[in-house]
Amino acid sequence: MVMDKLGSSLQDALKKLVNSGRIDEKSVNDVVKDIQRALLQADVNVQLVMNMSKQIKERALKEEVPSGMNPREHVIRIVYQELINIIGEGTEINLEPQTIMMIGLQGSGKTTTTSKLARYFQKKGLKPAVICADTFRPGAYHQLKSLCDKNSIPFYGEEGNEDSLGIVERGMDKLGKYDVLIIDTAGRHSLEQDLIEEMEQINSIAKPDKKLLVLDAAIGQQASEQARAFNESIGISGVVITKLDGTAKGGGALSAVSETNSSIAFIGVGETSGDLEKFEPDRFISRLLGMGDIRSLIEKAEESLSEEELDVESMMQGRFTLKDMYKQLEAVNKMGPLKQVMQMMPGGMGQNISEEQFQVTSEKLSRYRIIMDSMTVDEMDDPKLIGSSRIKRISRGSGSKPDDVRELLKYHKTMQNAMKNFRGAGKFNMKKMMKKFGM
Ligand code: GDP
Repeated sequence: MVMDKLGSSLQDALKKLVNSGRIDEKSVNDVVKDIQRALLQADVNVQLVMNMSKQIKERALKEEVPSGMNPREHVIRIVYQELINIIGEGTEINLEPQTIMMIGLQGSGKTTTTSKLARYFQKKGLKPAVICADTFRPGAYHQLKSLCDKNSIPFYGEEGNEDSLGIVERGMDKLGKYDVLIIDTAGRHSLEQDLIEEMEQINSIAKPDKKLLVLDAAIGQQASEQARAFNESIGISGVVITKLDGTAKGGGALSAVSETNSSIAFIGVGETSGDLEKFEPDRFISRLLGMGDIRSLIEKAEESLSEEELDVESMMQGRFTLKDMYKQLEAVNKMGPLKQVMQMMPGGMGQNISEEQFQVTSEKLSRYRIIMDSMTVDEMDDPKLIGSSRIKRISRGSGSKPDDVRELLKYHKTMQNAMKNFRGAGKFNMKKMMKKFGM
């Protein structure tokens, strides 16, 4: 597992908290001390750890415990939120056609990551291609070519030619028809001026949409020096931290990134082409804390904080997108049978929908989620964009049948129409209503 040791120390700290008698200043101080120890051992920056400790203590003791949550859950939620604050938001990676330039020192895992990234886009249904402009490290050409060949990813390189700029130009020319072009560039043993100059030249020729800096997790806090140097010369869009599977010190690189105000795009968690994960702070921290249910814990608090109102009016009058639909399905699925819920609503919204369409099983939900993961933001917002070629791409990307994608779109349409028919019902509190009906 990624950062095993940090995870288990944090988990132990929280378990201790759960088992402690009551939550008071002493128990909060104890858990904060344990967390500090765990983070410092994982090489998280001292200043960050101190700031975070202060925040946890203050919030845990001063903030009111949200109703529906016990004091322990309240503290755990604060720890979770503060950890997410440390690592910051992830870099946004969209699924549009784009050019990505990979940057980093030799040995950081740049070449491996280039091929993993190509595979990532390929799995999402896009057509990636790779250019090898690493003319510095002997062996880079063959390494990258064979990694690409394994996954049938188009590759351009010129073995033995040291003219990296020429290679980029010709490669872009040749592979221009592919959706995502990934350029692997050369590294050096250390941050050297000629490396920076080469990156500036490639940057001005390739004009990449994204520049991803690859950092080896094991270098710890030195990561910030590299992030700063590359950011100042060509500007970086995000960072990939590699080898998080094999180090106890990954906290150093994570905090260096946050310190330099960069963000993390992906993490490398192994040597094979599938071992690249899109970086999602909440998921990362949940996993680190070993709490599959932390999300539901947070949701529980937030529900009771806002006495959740389902804004039916805006749903029906405004645009009911695929994203809205997914959110609604998830919420309703948690609350009870959709048909019953809808029939309770004024206007008899449920009447024109068949029994089958109400059967939103959790299996279907997870299938829908996988399919939607392969859609672009625009498609989620405006499903009308999805014609047959996009259906093909989405089905390929999500490993499902085109008919599954069509079924999802059809379901969305039915729901959208139902929403329209239901115009005028206004706001009401669905939870209260369901309670009234004994659900
Ligand atoms: P480059 O010089 O930056 O192109 O580095 P390479 O891509 O050749 O990677 C250097 C070494 O790190 C290789 O042995 C890779 O297999 C290994 N590596 C890269 N990423 C990861 C990772 O996420 N986890 C592990 N365990 N090894 C990795």
